[in-house]
Amino acid sequence: MTGSVIVVGGGTAGMEAAGQLADEGFSVTLIEKEQELGGHVREWHHLFPDRRRSSEVMSYLKKRVEKVKVITGTKVESFHKKGREFIVSTGNGNSIHCDAMLLTTGFDLFRSERKEEYGYGIYENVITSADLEMMFNKKNVRLKNGEKPERIGLLHCVGSRDEKAGNLYCSKLCCVTAVKQAIELRETLGDSKVFCFYMDMRMGGALYEELYREAQEKYGIGFIRGKISEVSTNINNRLVIKAEDTLAGRPLKMELDMLVLMAGMEMSQAGARLAESGNLLTGENRFFAPADHHFGSNKSNVKGIFYAGTCTAPMNITETISHARSAVADIVSYMKNSK
Ligand SMILES: Cc1cc2nc3c(=O)[nH]c(=O)nc-3n(C[C@H](O)[C@H](O)[C@H](O)COP(=O)(O)OP(=O)(O)OC[C@H]3O[C@@H](n4cnc5c(N)ncnc54)[C@H](O)[C@@H]3O)c2cc1C
Ligand code: SF4
Repeated sequence: MTGSVIVVGGGTAGMEAAGQLADEGFSVTLIEKEQELGGHVREWHHLFPDRRRSSEVMSYLKKRVEKVKVITGTKVESFHKKGREFIVSTGNGNSIHCDAMLLTTGFDLFRSERKEEYGYGIYENVITSADLEMMFNKKNVRLKNGEKPERIGLLHCVGSRDEKAGNLYCSKLCCVTAVKQAIELRETLGDSKVFCFYMDMRMGGALYEELYREAQEKYGIGFIRGKISEVSTNINNRLVIKAEDTLAGRPLKMELDMLVLMAGMEMSQAGARLAESGNLLTGENRFFAPADHHFGSNKSNVKGIFYAGTCTAPMNITETISHARSAVADIVSYMKNSK
């Protein structure tokens, strides 16, 4: 097929789609704002559900874009339509023309400082799930003073399912991420105690429930149904959390060395700016709104602009790759019919 496509965002969705669009014969340019391709997955350690290393996924994706023109360190700031063409403007003042665009601008992690009561940015041993992935990568899961954490809590639903945070939706992946991280903590730290504080366990993915069972039976992880209401420190500089155990129906106070906040996924700020510049519709959750949830989840409200991946909703890697592939099918059909 002939024609040119610009893919905005070089994460999982962008790299998979760009490779496949090149295989279809299009002239493809993939633009990524960071210096390196890979998006968030580049930052993760072992992946759920099968605990494979994220570097394996990265190697696959890097091969995928071998035939693609890749521009890194360049942010797409805006775009507009002129006739049947799109003109894309980048942060370094360049304009690039194309016949169709695929937006794969991904997600931002919820900024946990916004939930002041959990003490992120206030207490040094309150960290996020993304910080913990970085510690796993550096093989250095330690408290700020270098000591080994003996008691660790993982708090679910930080910034998701939370009216005050303005996010009513469930981020879908943080329950299974917590289970995976809890197992990894037990494997890394040996006899340390690990507790997950959850509202509901949402384990709706292939092999998720099996991982949850393994966490309880093989690794002895404590699952406590209840939300932490307050975090403080005591005289020994240990974290003290107050929660309500809603299964036992009693209040709970516990000392911890480390608290990991399972921060939710939000529409990326860079994606939101593109939505504004191109009059693209967003949903109640502020992610890009697909033209039709059943039959057009890759289509936007503007002909010739398509979406894939977590810029439309929280998704795991498997779902992101499938979504990228279905976007390519829609672009092929659009290019055939617009000739
Ligand atoms: C803590 C955590 C752990 C996770 N662990 C797993 C796991 O173990 N297994 C699993 O299946 N899934 C996991 N996920 C989900 C996984 O990270 C996503 O499925 C995946 O990152 C989605 O890829 P994406 O391409 O949609 O978005 P992203 O990874 O966010 O990539 C988007 C890219 O677009 C770029 N971009 C954005 N705007 C612009 C612009 N204007 N111009 C140029 N570039 C731009 C960004 O810099 C970024 O590189 C996890 C998620 C979280 C939060
Ligand atoms: S996946 Fe679990 S932790 Fe994440 S928002 Fe949904 S219920 Fe909360």
